[in-house]
Amino acid sequence: MSACIFCKIAEGEVQSQTVYEDDRVMAFKDLNPAAPTHLLFIPRKHIARVGEAAEADAELLGHLQVVVGKVAKDAGLKDFRVVTNNGRGAGQSVDHLHYHLLAGRRMNWPPG
Ligand code: AMP
Repeated sequence: MSACIFCKIAEGEVQSQTVYEDDRVMAFKDLNPAAPTHLLFIPRKHIARVGEAAEADAELLGHLQVVVGKVAKDAGLKDFRVVTNNGRGAGQSVDHLHYHLLAGRRMNWPPG
């Protein structure tokens, strides 16, 4: 059994507030939202971080990004930010690749 919390969500062992799922990817609400809308997008396949993605993951990660755009469009979002943290120093706390979608407040640049 995987110890990875996002693998457990992908396998249905841990509940999440799912907003989208298909056979390859999932989107669910962040437990600790940093914006009025804060969703996480994951591949079901365990990839620790974007820096560990392989060429063979290219189609999967392309699909994941297309799903981010579709979910945002379906939610009526026009202005939103998509980020991924790679490594502890960049703020990554869960070692399963995920894109954050943040919306509903002003997004500053550069990010902190
Ligand atoms: P990061 O710090 O970039 O790795 O982002 C991990 C995110 O996962 C954080 O924003 C957490 O609030 C969120 N998170 C951790 N566990 C869960 C969970 N079980 N369900 C939903 N979001 C979670």
